[in-house]
Amino acid sequence: MGKLIVFAAPSGAGKTTIVRHILNARQDVAFSVSATTRDQRSYEVDGHDYYFLTPQAFREKIDENAFVEWEEVYPDQYYGTLKKEVERLWNQGKNIIFDIDVKGALSIKETFPSETLTIFIKPPSLEVLRKRLINRATEDEDSLHRRLEKVEWEMDFENKFDKTLVNNVLSEAFLVAETIVEHFLEGK
Ligand code: 5GP
Repeated sequence: MGKLIVFAAPSGAGKTTIVRHILNARQDVAFSVSATTRDQRSYEVDGHDYYFLTPQAFREKIDENAFVEWEEVYPDQYYGTLKKEVERLWNQGKNIIFDIDVKGALSIKETFPSETLTIFIKPPSLEVLRKRLINRATEDEDSLHRRLEKVEWEMDFENKFDKTLVNNVLSEAFLVAETIVEHFLEGK
């Protein structure tokens, strides 16, 4: 059974970039592809970035108890980690990297306490976070607003995580993330 490394952060903190970096840097880790009901973005690939499900298909999976954890991260937008996904990656002998929301991260830790490391990625300030999210321009007005509204609530979860990583200068955050992951996987 491989280990679980869970990254969570407020939207716009740079979590996905850091997760991608770790995935490129190490062969012994693989990405847990989540299921979601949100709309697919133009650059996203089904089965690679997410498994895109209809709300009905997602509800059926909830009823079948197919999820390790799931959350309604934004109103009417569901995200979840499938048990099958974790098994798929463990069968490949991989440690698993998650990019999930703050509550989902704590659920994974609760389910697999001794195999899991939770890492909270923090922006240098709320103002920087807001600017990043606006500049990213992936969201329409409504979605941007929903994400900004949630940031302060998300920031309060920091002290429940095993590690905090401040993403100020990205190249430095990459190095810190690599070191944290290396220490955890190699039991240093
Ligand atoms: P986005 O829509 O920007 O891809 O993701 C929105 C939020 O949902 C992010 O915080 C992302 O990490 C989180 N998320 C993605 N997959 C999952 C999942 O499987 N479970 C949970 N709880 N959150 C997830």
